[in-house]
Amino acid sequence: MVRLSAITPSGPVQLGNYLGAVRRWAVDGGEDDVYFISDLHAMTTSHNPSRLRALTREQLAVLIAAGVDPRSVSVQSDLVRELGALTWVLECTCTYGEAARMVQFKEKSVGRPSVRLSLLTYPVLMAADILLQGAREVPVGDDQRQHVELARALARRFNGTYGEVFAVPRAVVPPTAARVRDLADPSRKMAKSATDAAGTVFVLDPPDLVRRKIRRAVTDEVARVRYAPEEQPGLANLLEILAACTGGEPAALADGFTGYHDLKEATAEAVVEELRPVRERTRQLLDDPAELDRVRAHGAERTRDRCRHRLDAALRLSGLG
Ligand code: ATP
Ligand code: MG
Repeated sequence: MVRLSAITPSGPVQLGNYLGAVRRWAVDGGEDDVYFISDLHAMTTSHNPSRLRALTREQLAVLIAAGVDPRSVSVQSDLVRELGALTWVLECTCTYGEAARMVQFKEKSVGRPSVRLSLLTYPVLMAADILLQGAREVPVGDDQRQHVELARALARRFNGTYGEVFAVPRAVVPPTAARVRDLADPSRKMAKSATDAAGTVFVLDPPDLVRRKIRRAVTDEVARVRYAPEEQPGLANLLEILAACTGGEPAALADGFTGYHDLKEATAEAVVEELRPVRERTRQLLDDPAELDRVRAHGAERTRDRCRHRLDAALRLSGLG
């Protein structure tokens, strides 16, 4: 069973990415899976070329440092020619209405004076990512489910129209996926592209900065430590983060604290200890360009080898070459 998932270098890896995605890839992932840095997706909104390159490298290092099997990691743009070719064929399989219906497109384009065309078409590129590698399972957050449905529809339509080429993928939403909230505004999820970094813990933040951010986390006036996500979302977020780092249950952990201060201190220490080895190993990898280059080159070769016959078949059956 080939699983495929990605992280976009739109900002540095944050705690939610780590607890909700990367750490899971390290634990559940196998050699056959594909975990990649989706640098092409990061270009769908305004981007800076040198920052994009640096973040791509940094995220690659974080994935390996977090224990994701280095044989399963790659960088999306190393396959840019193959993906470009299949994206075109899939755009010729997809309708404008299907693309324009995507909730994420509507959300990200609303109220903006100028929207890149790629923001509309990137779900088709995402379908190419998935179909090219023959992935059957795509672990995603709820927000990406609709995009995987599109990939499913396009695989079926292509197979039905031109001939069987693609495996039909399905979205798997991890049952207990941590949904880490922004520390400064618990009504939002933590996101790496958030404009205000005060509520976002980045995996590479120095320990003192992590402590400061968690100490300043927004809580409430209730002054009672209990796990009540609806009434006390900020507090519940801290309990969930603590639980994710220590392996406990948020409600049971709540019983061990009398005040918010102690809970914040314990959460800060747990996060610092959880991230410490990842941060240290990432630093080492970033200081050792040869190792990162080697992993990246291997990932490029492997994903290219794996997709070649599928791409050739798709081009041939659709009347090209
Ligand atoms: P962006 O702001 O650019 O959308 P992001 O932080 O939402 O960045 P993505 O690249 O969209 O990150 O997602 C990478 C992975 O991290 C996905 O599997 C996503 O479901 C997961 N993820 C993102 N944010 C959180 C969060 N706050 N809690 C848990 N998982 C998260
Ligand atoms: Mg996101």
